[in-house]
Amino acid sequence: MLLGLGWGILAVNLGKEWTGFSQDFIHPFGTIFMNLLKLIAIPMILTSLITGIASLNDIGKLGRIGGKTIGIFVITTVIAISIGLFMVNIIQPGKQMSESTRDMLMQSNQQQAIEKTQAAENVKNRPALQPLVDLFPDNVIHAAGDNGNMLQIVIFAVFLGIAITLIPNEKAAPLVKLMDSANEVVMKVVDLIMIIAPIGVFALLSQVIVDLAKDDPQQILGLLQALSIYTLTVLAALILHLLITYMGIVRFIAKMNPLVFLKRMQPVQLLAFSTSSSNATLPVNMENCEEKLGVDEEITGFVLPLGATVNMDGTSCYQAIAAVFIAQVFNMDLSFLEQLTIILTAVLASIGSAGVPGAGVVMLVIVLNSVHVPVEGIALILGVDRILDMCRTAVNVTGDAAVCCAIAKMEGKLNVPK
Ligand code: ASP
Repeated sequence: MLLGLGWGILAVNLGKEWTGFSQDFIHPFGTIFMNLLKLIAIPMILTSLITGIASLNDIGKLGRIGGKTIGIFVITTVIAISIGLFMVNIIQPGKQMSESTRDMLMQSNQQQAIEKTQAAENVKNRPALQPLVDLFPDNVIHAAGDNGNMLQIVIFAVFLGIAITLIPNEKAAPLVKLMDSANEVVMKVVDLIMIIAPIGVFALLSQVIVDLAKDDPQQILGLLQALSIYTLTVLAALILHLLITYMGIVRFIAKMNPLVFLKRMQPVQLLAFSTSSSNATLPVNMENCEEKLGVDEEITGFVLPLGATVNMDGTSCYQAIAAVFIAQVFNMDLSFLEQLTIILTAVLASIGSAGVPGAGVVMLVIVLNSVHVPVEGIALILGVDRILDMCRTAVNVTGDAAVCCAIAKMEGKLNVPK
């Protein structure tokens, strides 16, 4: 990780030729690595979820696990937002920004802010029940195409899994066996992809630095300085959530040693940090939860794909802080009721955010709209968004794994290896 960041900084300092070299000959390896992870995500969800549900052999149990999972996801998200609101109200980072800095930031990121706002408008203008309709694919190939619609694939796999439990055993057995061995193969593919992880992570991290400092290397330092208190507020809230909420879940519900959990989660967190994508991290999170944390595959197959799309505590915490921060910069005092509105909309916005880089900031527009804070304000925070995206994604995937361990424990499906 440090090598990647270090190389990025060195290339930026050495000048345009080196950043060009980095872009032409190093960054493609990051893209290849990301592509491979995304490639294996859909087959992995399909095989592990179908095998998992088929082996449950009980639809009632599936409903119970589903209910518990969604319940805990929503509770942790509300806690994350509350921690975010608490921190931003105490520290008040927006009140400490001068008008000249505000104008400078607004001007330099205006165009990007307009693009994000437009993307959010498209989401907002849809009919109220469209998100529900979108859960059900009309074509499974399309669902797996483009960027892969994880929830649609989950729904499809759940249907197949349920159908398998409903047909006579002797008819189902060959398919279950096939899926089982396909699942083994997919896991092996993840192992193979992880062989190039060091190169992939190196390339992705150096790309982040080079992209940040593309126009002017000094700009990155200036930005970090201007937004340092805001950035620190987000980081502090994320760390608090990780330490209080997740460690609490791991310790008291999963009955696991939090330090062991954190240590075994490190490769997954590093991957989330360097890819900024819960979706790309999903295959590795699934494998890690099964092999290192001892969760049965019928639980990982269900909880983690769902978590990668709907459970984004880091994102929701960040959205709450960003919304209040922007309001503070514009000298708007948000009432208690408005802060409650933020809780509600940030829960929905984080559920609606896809597990891809930069999704959180697009959905932030919806949170801002709900409390009538000017959406142009996102120009203020775009400069540090990539860095915060990396951190919040690491928190998002940690939350998915913590909940996964908790559910597994409740179902008697957790067997932590020594
Ligand atoms: N990049 C985040 C994720 O994939 C989403 C976001 O906050 O932008 O989990």
